[in-house]
Amino acid sequence: MALIVQKYGGTSVGNPERICNVARRILETQHAGNKVIAVVSAMSGVTNNLIDLANAVSKNPTEREMDVLLATGEQQTIALTAMAINSIGGKAVSLTGAQAGIQTDGVHTKARISDITPTEVHEMLEEGNIVILAGFQGQTRDGLITTLGRGGSDLTAIAMAAAVKADLCQIFTDVDGVYTCDPRVVKTAKKINVISYDEMLEMASSGSKVMQSRSVEFAKKFGVRFEVRNSMNTNPGTLVKEEEKGMESVVVRGVSIERNQAKVTIDDVPDRPGVAAIIFSAIRDANIIIDMIVQNVSWDGETDISFTCSAAELPKAEAELNKIIPTLGGNVKLRSQSGVAKLSIVGIGMRSHSGVAAKMFNALAENGINIQMISTSEIKTAVTVNENEIEKAAKVVHTAFGLDA
Ligand code: ADP
Ligand code: ASP
Ligand code: MG
Repeated sequence: MALIVQKYGGTSVGNPERICNVARRILETQHAGNKVIAVVSAMSGVTNNLIDLANAVSKNPTEREMDVLLATGEQQTIALTAMAINSIGGKAVSLTGAQAGIQTDGVHTKARISDITPTEVHEMLEEGNIVILAGFQGQTRDGLITTLGRGGSDLTAIAMAAAVKADLCQIFTDVDGVYTCDPRVVKTAKKINVISYDEMLEMASSGSKVMQSRSVEFAKKFGVRFEVRNSMNTNPGTLVKEEEKGMESVVVRGVSIERNQAKVTIDDVPDRPGVAAIIFSAIRDANIIIDMIVQNVSWDGETDISFTCSAAELPKAEAELNKIIPTLGGNVKLRSQSGVAKLSIVGIGMRSHSGVAAKMFNALAENGINIQMISTSEIKTAVTVNENEIEKAAKVVHTAFGLDA
């Protein structure tokens, strides 16, 4: 008898028919001779609606209350899914994150899992139940409700799979697996059969929201292999696992895009020790997540520092920087622009192949797309372009690397 953790995302449980479909699939998995823990998300749109409601009653809702509110989305789905299973002759019980022993730190709205004590989960399974577990939530040691960041049900599934030493972890979503690019943007994208943790992590953190990046980080750390599959069919999906021989022969595994970005430049900063530290400490203290830091070489005592952040956080970043800029001395100026998008190519084969960046830049140049910023890591090359050119940019780069189906 195997122990299987499944996760069904928002679209997969988006209406009563889909919940009934999921209920059947979960029950079939148990009937095939397995113990099943099924993590479910809020029905699609519910979390966003809750956020809108909060903003309608308050300009500045506290994150503590936000978590109390947002956790209710998943609580609806666990009860409905358990009811649906029970109505077709199965035996299911729902558990909230807290009931399942998921303990987190106290960073409301993006808490980290600190410990899992799945005593209740094991007891329920032993009694022959299917356990339907609320994704995206946990509780602090002091009993406060927390949530795990957007897309956090993926993390619940992977962390629970690690905690109960599951034999299999399956992430069911609304596409057949992880593709070479978002299939809704690049129609010719192909499903990837096997991908390494590092590639999946780079793709997820550069905009491929098919998996929450923190969940992939967790999977890598604890060696949880998992598959990404479609909840509406039985097609084979994508296996995400540790790197193995031969994977490096593929230079570019996939292309990611991230919209709604902003670029910020601090011009003419004095070239002396401590300046970058002051700038980025201010950004950190405001809890702003940044990416693509670029600093030019200084030849005349001054330099420029640029970075990207989400457009939503731009006003906060500007406010923080305006506070510290007068302390830097010199003639420092702040410039910023939203309407920017990021395009990344990812592949562990980049470590051992040359000419990858040139190929990407040529494809963009041939199509008249201007590159604004460039950054690279061992297995990723990323650029920013005008947001209105991002789809075209993704398509031509996807084609240039021979990824089209
Ligand atoms: P769920 O609600 O199941 O968690 P998400 O909406 O979070 O699903 O993620 C699935 C979506 O991710 C797909 O519908 C697809 O549009 C998008 N996506 C982005 N990049 C990729 C990719 N490389 N491969 C597959 N899907 C992707
Ligand atoms: N419901 C949460 C969200 O919309 C968590 C999830 O779906 O994974 O972000
Ligand atoms: Mg998701």
